[in-house]
Amino acid sequence: MTKNASLHARRGAAIPRGIANAFPVYPQRAEGSEIWDVEGHRFIDFAGGIAVLNTGHRHPKVMAAVARQLEAYTHTAFQVLPYEPYIEVCERLNALAPFSGDAKSVLFSTGAEAVENAIKIARAATGRPGVIAFAGGFHGRTTLTMALTGKVVPYKKKFGVSPPGIYHLPFPAEDQGVTVADTIKAMDFLFRADIDPTDVAAIIIEPVQGEGGFLPAPTELLVALRATCDKHGILLIADEIQTGFARTGKMFGIENSGVEPDLVTVAKSLAGGFPLSGVIGRAAIMDTVEPGGLGGTYAGSPVACAAALAVLDVILEENLLERAKILGGKIKAALDGFATRNNVVPIAAVRGPGAMVAFDVVRERGGFRPDPDATKRVIQAALAEGVILLSCGVGGNTIRILNPLTISDALLDEGLAMLGKALASANV
Ligand code: PMP
Repeated sequence: MTKNASLHARRGAAIPRGIANAFPVYPQRAEGSEIWDVEGHRFIDFAGGIAVLNTGHRHPKVMAAVARQLEAYTHTAFQVLPYEPYIEVCERLNALAPFSGDAKSVLFSTGAEAVENAIKIARAATGRPGVIAFAGGFHGRTTLTMALTGKVVPYKKKFGVSPPGIYHLPFPAEDQGVTVADTIKAMDFLFRADIDPTDVAAIIIEPVQGEGGFLPAPTELLVALRATCDKHGILLIADEIQTGFARTGKMFGIENSGVEPDLVTVAKSLAGGFPLSGVIGRAAIMDTVEPGGLGGTYAGSPVACAAALAVLDVILEENLLERAKILGGKIKAALDGFATRNNVVPIAAVRGPGAMVAFDVVRERGGFRPDPDATKRVIQAALAEGVILLSCGVGGNTIRILNPLTISDALLDEGLAMLGKALASANV
């Protein structure tokens, strides 16, 4: 048995199938945009640990900051003894907040925890129970965030009823025949049939749906949601967990629309591989929660805060906002080239702001019909070529590209060439 196979057999025996693995590949080490597995195979990482590694694996500045923090202290619990790195991360996030006026921030560990707390804050600030989310959206796997997530299989199946007060609207998507007008109409129906707008605390939206298929929220929709929120005293929450920290060519995805949210959830690429998440919000809203209402034993770990401070420096020093746009342009040009070839599986709808790029694998050239089986073949063929890719999307036929924004042109070109070969060999 190979090393990967024997580890996978141990994994199967020790760990439940409920946590699925994209690949039975076990890393030995990783650097920048490359991973080497326990058998010495080398892969170019176009998955970034699900959008966590905008600054790449083990960025030297992040490693040095973490090493310094490890020599000082690793844990006190911020609620017991507060520490400067936590304050500094919040100061930096407040300065970056994609809205005008004073901001405050609070830190946690996981994305789901950030979303849970954004909802708690919105409910405390408004005194209202309702929350509106979107079909196809993903906000996490805890009970509340699972309820907010707009996809039943696999996230809600077998987990019983959702907590009350959560409502979903259709998300505009051309291939599903949903327009912005349809979404607005559904919201009008919701306000007549299920909940008065004055009972709604928040509307939560991903500026670009991540797991849902890299679908940008049309600016027209965000503007309409902002107007509805202003009219009825509802808070607008931007879930920036996947779109954040330079991925879309802006620090936060919603900045591409000019619409200002009231609360922002952040995680993933904030700390370059260390578990850190947070909620950034308008100061007056953030201060409505009573002392002790927010927190967590590990929330805002000093080690993760040290990493985040270095990540924020690297984004600026290496001009990753600009780099995301350049990389996105190169990736889209390569994908548009593949789309015109006859010897590859049919692909369509190359899209996404900055370097948050995806495309669909479809049944026929020029069509919309999803081909999830061919998508799986492409991803497996890509692994065999040496590039790690992830799928997403409600039809299981979207391939997303989440390479580090620090990737060199040479590695990007090599990874894209591997993807091109995979698209050809999956064309059976
Ligand atoms: N929100 C969004 C937009 C996400 O993409 C994710 C993770 N994919 C989450 C929330 C949940 O984050 P976590 O897995 O860290 O709980």
